[in-house]
Amino acid sequence: MIFAKENGRTIPAEDKVFALSGRAKAAIAKYGKEEVINGTVGAMLDDDGKLVVLSSVMEAIRTLAPEDYAEYAPITGTPDFKAAIKEAVFGDYEPKGYVNMCATPGGTGSITSVIANYSEPGDTILTHDWCWANYGNICRQQGRNMETFRFFDEEGRFDIPSLTEKIRELSARQSSIVLLINTPAHNPTGYSLSDEDWKKMIDVINQASCQVILFLDIAYIDYAGDEKEVRSFLPMLEDLGGHVLTVFGYSASKTLTAYGMRLGAIVCLAKTEEISDEFRRVSEFFARSTWSNCNRSAQTVMGKIYKDPELLAKVNAERAGYRDMLLARGKAFEAALREEGVACVPFVAGFFVTIETPRAAEICKRLEEQNIFTLALARGIRASVASMSMEKCVKAAKAIAAMINEK
Ligand code: PLP
Repeated sequence: MIFAKENGRTIPAEDKVFALSGRAKAAIAKYGKEEVINGTVGAMLDDDGKLVVLSSVMEAIRTLAPEDYAEYAPITGTPDFKAAIKEAVFGDYEPKGYVNMCATPGGTGSITSVIANYSEPGDTILTHDWCWANYGNICRQQGRNMETFRFFDEEGRFDIPSLTEKIRELSARQSSIVLLINTPAHNPTGYSLSDEDWKKMIDVINQASCQVILFLDIAYIDYAGDEKEVRSFLPMLEDLGGHVLTVFGYSASKTLTAYGMRLGAIVCLAKTEEISDEFRRVSEFFARSTWSNCNRSAQTVMGKIYKDPELLAKVNAERAGYRDMLLARGKAFEAALREEGVACVPFVAGFFVTIETPRAAEICKRLEEQNIFTLALARGIRASVASMSMEKCVKAAKAIAAMINEK
């Protein structure tokens, strides 16, 4: 550090994922898109490698007036946006409790906010061992530690005993725990908690001897399957005890394929009005003192879509087509691995598939020499089926399996 302060963080020279994606793009420019497999991007690309943009969302964008871009938005969000978020998060489930929300720049902002407002400096945040690497950055950025429980046991089942043990351990040290759970269509594995997993997790949380802030990162919910089925866990949240506050992190980046518009929301489902009011107060203050307010044009677009049943049906139908495309790619990737005797970490749906291996760094480096770009995680390889055609999914899976199978 020359002038800057590290402040307990380990700050890399560049963001690993964006740097990797930059190298994949450079290879495409040099060798042509046919010669390169880019399995790095956390955004949907079509079979031609072009970014998927929902035309129905673009239709709504084209109706915006200059003021929709120029005017400040209220800190917590415009009224239409907030009504849209309620529908986007809960679907046709009528939440039993007190809902409040605040606009955030993407789902990322919601994670930053929950950590800032519901944990203290030095606290430990709990999440699953397979997780979006940015969780660790967000924790360290705010002077928090992150610890993990084992997501899957040897049989590939949700590891409830590990979660139980970690909650017990942390509750002996802290008066509250922020528990980050990314489901459905988890990044990086594509796993979705089953209703059975949910039931068990709720039991465990109910037994905790301290307050628990259950943060549900639902960034990929609209790519996880049937809209109703993927929200079947919502009524189960009613069984959570009074020591639990449920908070959702929503991302319009994925749902509307509007990654660059930087819109999301943090949403609480509280047991009392007092807790819900407190949530609004702290979320609004945090927003005001960090990013202030969010992109008004994106909020207007979202408001327009959810207010117009015909347009909403069009957006949902268009997205469902891409959701099926993702699922077909994921299943093809998984099947190609299986043919070579290699299993992936349990995959249900979504943007990513992960293969567990201690040789991830070495394998990803060698794959890159063959112009196959995938992300090396500490314990495995993440391939984005969102950014590869079906044919390239199969090719990448075969190349990964061949290296894994080397003696
Ligand atoms: N949560 C997970 C698990 C993610 O993978 C991402 C993005 O990749 C996000 C949240 C937030 O995305 P954004 O800030 O673009 O909405």
